[in-house]
Amino acid sequence: MKIHNLPSPGDYIDIHSHDAAPSAGIFTVENLMAHEGKTPAEKKGIAYAIGIHPWYLSELNHDDLIKTVLLTAGNENVIAVGEAGFDKLRGPSIDLQRKAFEEQVKISEELKKPLIIHCVRMWDELLMTHKKLRPSMPWLVHGFRGKKELAFQLISRGMYLSFWFEFILRPESSGLLRELPHGRIFLETDGADVSIKDIYAKVSEDLGISLNKLKDIMAENFNNFFA
Ligand SMILES: [Zn+2]
Repeated sequence: MKIHNLPSPGDYIDIHSHDAAPSAGIFTVENLMAHEGKTPAEKKGIAYAIGIHPWYLSELNHDDLIKTVLLTAGNENVIAVGEAGFDKLRGPSIDLQRKAFEEQVKISEELKKPLIIHCVRMWDELLMTHKKLRPSMPWLVHGFRGKKELAFQLISRGMYLSFWFEFILRPESSGLLRELPHGRIFLETDGADVSIKDIYAKVSEDLGISLNKLKDIMAENFNNFFA
């Protein structure tokens, strides 16, 4: 895949955001949700993902949303498909969520653009789907706030984890962070009123490494995930 817009050396990488404005020193992956009808406009320091968020999927809009993902995902400013996935607490029937998710996996595979996942209390479904479809593109679970066992189950399937911003800023996340392989983690704001710089500061302290070292790790993970 030709990546049109790449992080510059030393950038903070916000792997999952919404409504991001260009900001010096920050590279953002802006997640467009198909129902919003936004376009991946060329902006400095911003690349895009496009997907169907399960909350906004219905029998009525399914066909249109899939068409939007298909049309938009081919854009050169779009580097990933998603966020796509499963939500037990909100959204349509699991059958429809599964159908839309599998269609988006197919688009990710065909375009060779990795997949960004939203998953709430549907981990068995996600893991089963990964086993069944055996995708060649890597998947990234965004907003992760689960336990170590679950983290390692996902990582053992080749997945990457990006943490829920509130979770990562809490003292309780430090222990989990220290146990995970550095090569599998990403950091994000999810478009919330929180600074990616504060998240990096907390994580570099947790891991006992310098900010620059953490930036190097995130840049390497970015290159591997989007290779
Ligand atoms: Zn999001």
